[in-house]
Amino acid sequence: MVRVSTIEWSADTGPVDERIGEPPTLRFPDGFEYTESWKRAQTESDQGGPINDAERMVYLEESSKPHRVVFVLDGARLRADCGCAGYHHRQWCAHVASLWWQWVRGRIQVTHRQTGREHEMPPCWLRFGDERHDVREDHLDGLTSAELDAYLTCDLGETGVREYARKTSRAPGTVGNLLSRARQKVEDGVAVTDGGHR
Ligand SMILES: [Zn+2]
Repeated sequence: MVRVSTIEWSADTGPVDERIGEPPTLRFPDGFEYTESWKRAQTESDQGGPINDAERMVYLEESSKPHRVVFVLDGARLRADCGCAGYHHRQWCAHVASLWWQWVRGRIQVTHRQTGREHEMPPCWLRFGDERHDVREDHLDGLTSAELDAYLTCDLGETGVREYARKTSRAPGTVGNLLSRARQKVEDGVAVTDGGHR
């Protein structure tokens, strides 16, 4: 399993609920398209770059300094956090908005924390707000990275098993087995089933 070892909160091995300061799930505020942050995201270039698999520096043209931003896929969600005042107060800012803008245009890659997969565009299974999949994130914790990737792509993302098997160079039967194990674990909510890694 590929782990993002450089991010601070992944070093905490305690239960998720007990972690303090875990980066929030990205949400788009109502009317975000009309916010100044969204306008800046579209008009100002970013001179920043990746720090590690989970964080980037964002340095917008009109900013006086760069901002360190968490931007990483985790389970079935996208986590985003920024140290600026705007994000602290509104959970939305030009720096996070810029990364989303860049990502949907294929300009940056975003890593999935558990599977290690680099996504050049938002994956088909990613949903926000009321559209989010009704799946318990803690139930996803028990899946191996291969099971999780298959479950996200085929079940949540509604990609055909054969298409996914072809893209990942595997036999459809292998993917079918991964999926049935994943579904069982998600249903049962078995947290530790991958050899005790978590
Ligand atoms: Zn910010």
